[in-house]
Amino acid sequence: MLSQTLVGTLLRDPCTAERADLEAIHTLPNPPLVKLSEDEIHVRRCRLASDAIDSRFGRFRTEDLPRLLELVQGAPVLVGHDRRTLGVARFFGGQIELRDEVSWLVPKFYWPRAHSKAQDLRVMIDSGVYNEASIAFVYKTPTCSICGQDLRSCAHWPGRDYDNQLCFFYYDGVERVTEGSLVYRGAAPGTGIELNLESNAKPDPKTDHSNTRTLRIKHRNRHFIADLHEQDPS
Ligand SMILES: [Zn+2]
Repeated sequence: MLSQTLVGTLLRDPCTAERADLEAIHTLPNPPLVKLSEDEIHVRRCRLASDAIDSRFGRFRTEDLPRLLELVQGAPVLVGHDRRTLGVARFFGGQIELRDEVSWLVPKFYWPRAHSKAQDLRVMIDSGVYNEASIAFVYKTPTCSICGQDLRSCAHWPGRDYDNQLCFFYYDGVERVTEGSLVYRGAAPGTGIELNLESNAKPDPKTDHSNTRTLRIKHRNRHFIADLHEQDPS
């Protein structure tokens, strides 16, 4: 008698792309050269950034998150901020969501199933091995939360208390999102990846897109480049 052991792996994508995802992808700047269909891509959602204070004591203003979501459209998903690579996926769509009093930037990202490593990426994400994210962006001014001045010229230090008030700084004048990365540890608490299912979280009413501020772009030669992953202690 022949016996056979069947070892199964969870290869099937638990959620597929939706028609609206395809529409959003095909209206990106530099859209796909060929029309993609729902069964040709994987889609996941990413809690990429929030308006909470991160481990460097920096913080996005809540009202800037819709602008940030605009800037992330079409940006690449890299692994570990490795800018020598071309990325493994691409951001599109998404929304700002309110979760436990924190407003989150939650874009979606897609990658083609036809890529030879597509299944590896999906398995590592869905199994929870790749589970934190980090946004890389360019901004102009670190604004002190205590005095409202440029942190570089005031007397306050981020992370210290002044009259029981923690000093942090705002990332003001965000000009560009260069990429978002899968990282071993994000600097912003609570980042992560989710299936492409309808979110339980509601769109954040505080960040109605109609109120999106247009950030003036000037002093291009004086900006900061930041990516929000944990730095190795040095
Ligand atoms: Zn200050």
